[in-house]
Amino acid sequence: MPIATTNPATGQVLKTYDPMSDEQVDAAIERAHLAFRQLHDTTYAQRAQWLNAAADLLDAERDATARLMTTEMGKTYAAAKAEVTKCATACRFYAANAEKMLADEPADAGAVKAKRAFVRYQPIGPVLAVMPWNFPLWQVMRFAAPALMAGNTGLLKHASNVPQTALYLEDVFRRAGFPEGAFSTLLVGSDAVERILGDPRVRAATLTGSEAAGRSIAQVAGRELKKTVLELGGSDPFVVMPSADLDKAAEVATTARCQNNGQSCIAAKRFIVHTDVFDAFAEKFAARMSALRVGDPMDEQTDVGPLASERGRDEIHDQVQDAVDNGATVLCGGEKPDGDGWFYPPTVVTDLKPAMRMWSEEVFGPVAGLYRASSYSEAIEIANGTTFGLGSNAWTTDPAEQERFATDLDAGNVFINGMTTSYPELPFGGVKNSGYGRELSAVGMREFCNTKTVWIGEGEAGAGAGAHSE
Ligand code: NAP
Repeated sequence: MPIATTNPATGQVLKTYDPMSDEQVDAAIERAHLAFRQLHDTTYAQRAQWLNAAADLLDAERDATARLMTTEMGKTYAAAKAEVTKCATACRFYAANAEKMLADEPADAGAVKAKRAFVRYQPIGPVLAVMPWNFPLWQVMRFAAPALMAGNTGLLKHASNVPQTALYLEDVFRRAGFPEGAFSTLLVGSDAVERILGDPRVRAATLTGSEAAGRSIAQVAGRELKKTVLELGGSDPFVVMPSADLDKAAEVATTARCQNNGQSCIAAKRFIVHTDVFDAFAEKFAARMSALRVGDPMDEQTDVGPLASERGRDEIHDQVQDAVDNGATVLCGGEKPDGDGWFYPPTVVTDLKPAMRMWSEEVFGPVAGLYRASSYSEAIEIANGTTFGLGSNAWTTDPAEQERFATDLDAGNVFINGMTTSYPELPFGGVKNSGYGRELSAVGMREFCNTKTVWIGEGEAGAGAGAHSE
């Protein structure tokens, strides 16, 4: 894949980059390695000062950065501005809370025959971050802010279609005051990842991306015995039960499917509706989906901009066509528009069957699958009947049913009467083919820390051996 900025609203290639040479990559790894040593001698307060400075830069440069993201991957300008603000908020959150999150945890010294025992969380070194284009700033920041506060350094291999946003990120951290090499962008293709991960100075990797990329990185990391966190695809269920407020559910369903032009891992993709309210919900949902304005992502009136690539647009159209060819019904949308740019109309498809691609594959665009369930149990069966397990949504005002959904939905996140989203305060990640490990919160921050057991005794012979000695 060429490393280039191509405007998805026009199809015009605006800027191309030569990939970095192996020598340039090696020099960046060395700088990350040296910067890790430098960070070792810094305090949380110092790193917080730099991260707060990064937040200030993001706020001050919000509009230009948002324009850049919209130009590179087609999200609406309004959504891009909100993304920049979210990144600044996350930087401030980790600046304020990292020291508490990684504070030593005392253990029961008596139980382990120690004078004192505790757990200390320490950074591990340079971490490779392989990132996707769909939230080009946020996906990186939710790795980078906690990692830098913990004292790790970051090497970013961003998606090849967002090189200018990738370079901007490096620039922000440098201007905020972080030491040279603390956060570097590597302009390389995915074929360079194996070599980078094989470098002994690189201690771990985090990937947000497709299942295929996850398998590939996990294989290399397995061979190299390196820790990975994988945030992969999803096909989130959005279950609507009879007690739900249908107007609110249809409104949120529309946003949950179409925000970011339908290209979000935690977008609701499969709408599973109890048969008692199926027709009423379907009508409200299709009406809202059809009313969305598709067009120029820079126009403040636009709800849905173009897909990020022609390949992505063709893929979702093929998935819809496959369903239609096999007997599905299109309630709205479903036609590929002529003209420049990779636009696709918000689409609702129902009468889906397990043999259709839409049943089992992730649909990465503004296309909703609508399913009918005759009971709670059938709703859960359809919701969990996928290889994915990232987010999930359920709509019910019945407290007992809310409790059941929280337990029964087989996913990393369960949101009830609201839309799945990510917060710096809450862990984020998936189960099954949606990946493993967590980002965000103290849990995410500790993924790239050495959880070090420290045992301090009085020095008597044998005291440290305890009950078990291996
Ligand atoms: P992708 O093709 O996997 O690309 C993501 C990143 O991985 C890019 O930097 C890409 O580089 C790199 N990459 C691709 N194949 C690779 C390989 N074999 N080895 C090493 N690196 C590789 O994903 P996408 O299609 O652009 O993004 C959409 C996918 O990401 C969807 O499945 C979506 O659900 C998922 N996603 C998940 C989350 C989450 O938090 N769970 C969040 C957002 C997106 P190039 O660009 O150079 O190919």
